[in-house]
Amino acid sequence: MLPEGLDLDRLVASALLHNGSYERLRWLCDHVGGRVAGSSAGEAAEQWAAETFRGFGLEPRFEAFEIDAWERDDLEALALGPSPWKLCALSHGNSPRRASVEAEVVDAGHGERPDLERLADRVRGRWVLCDEGVAPGHRPLHRSEKLALAAEFGAAGLLLYSSAPGNLPRTGMCAEREAPIPGIGISQEDGARLKRLLAAGSTVPVRVEMSNRIRRATVRNVLADLPGADSPAEVVLAGAHLDSWDPAQGATDNGLGAAIVLDMARVLAENLPRPRRTLRFALWAAEEIGLLGSKHHARLHATELADYCAVLNFDMTGTPHGYWIPGEQEPPALFRELAERLDGLGMDPASFDGKAGLHSDHQPFMLEGVPVVGLLGRLEGQGGHYYHAVGDTFEKVSKPGLCHAVAVGACTMAALAQAELRPMEHRTRERVVRMVTDADLLEALAVEGWRP
Ligand SMILES: [Zn+2]
Repeated sequence: MLPEGLDLDRLVASALLHNGSYERLRWLCDHVGGRVAGSSAGEAAEQWAAETFRGFGLEPRFEAFEIDAWERDDLEALALGPSPWKLCALSHGNSPRRASVEAEVVDAGHGERPDLERLADRVRGRWVLCDEGVAPGHRPLHRSEKLALAAEFGAAGLLLYSSAPGNLPRTGMCAEREAPIPGIGISQEDGARLKRLLAAGSTVPVRVEMSNRIRRATVRNVLADLPGADSPAEVVLAGAHLDSWDPAQGATDNGLGAAIVLDMARVLAENLPRPRRTLRFALWAAEEIGLLGSKHHARLHATELADYCAVLNFDMTGTPHGYWIPGEQEPPALFRELAERLDGLGMDPASFDGKAGLHSDHQPFMLEGVPVVGLLGRLEGQGGHYYHAVGDTFEKVSKPGLCHAVAVGACTMAALAQAELRPMEHRTRERVVRMVTDADLLEALAVEGWRP
């Protein structure tokens, strides 16, 4: 049952009618732009987040930590086929500081282990060319897993071509630390041309000159609390990563999520200034290079995590239509009721997903048994198309979608904070293992060193 006295009307009105988050996101996109972890733009974004919290009457605090900050320098990638051409390409994050490679290309399909096994000796010393997908029924592979496989088979490097047409190569992290071989995102069109040439029997050497920088840098999570009046030790947290990739403005990934969490802080500070439990808002650093900010926070607060009643994560959150609660077979009663009450905003009680997933800031909390909540959403227009590519700019963000996500997020957080009894159960270790096993994530987690 929804908590007594919970005034959803006020929260929704505040989110929809007094929303300044679209304009704040515009400022972040235009004045700061791409903000790779450890860059000066990253620091400016942290400052922006702290000032925004202050503007809502909340006292921001920083959690600083050190990272190896990767910074792209030059990349030249030339296909020396029948008629040489320049590949439309972006280095992957944590690619080597320096690489100078000329090698032939092999078509490795999806770049999965069976693909490479089929090619056997032909991988050694060559570029592995593959797409971003996997064979039907297979577990999706992160680009870092594809690079690790290519390296294991002795490849000279990885050419990963984008699933999005329009000359939009994608970047993204390809290894936890400096990769043993270069990882390069190329456009779908260049990938298709290379594949056609190889299929027609041509040999296509690709020459790459790459340079990048890696240096120590300090990054900061930015947090603010609305302290709980009755149970201050119990925390309901909403978080989003603030860092982005550099080719564009990081508008949908993840200025959008950051703007949602900041505006949820405004709505709740104005309308629920004395919550029963503590409301914590977090903008995570360095998500794109390995969830480093949320992992740092989970480590730093390990002894308090048992009192984290729920962690809401917002990463590329589109117009919401349902809940994602990993480890649940069906929506818990509180969420079903919320979805029913908020159906005018597009929420649908039947729209629910309980399958665990990885690779965003909910992950460290989920693995420690903290209940995790996300919104299922739809990025309007072509938002998702420009993921990690030059097109991820402010115009791709839908203002109504942003406002709806703030409204649903704020109502959800308030319901969790005001529930009389603790609203969600912590998952036992056994249940966490079952959850990630059911979702076929054990292999991906093993790559990160996590064992059941
Ligand atoms: Zn993201």
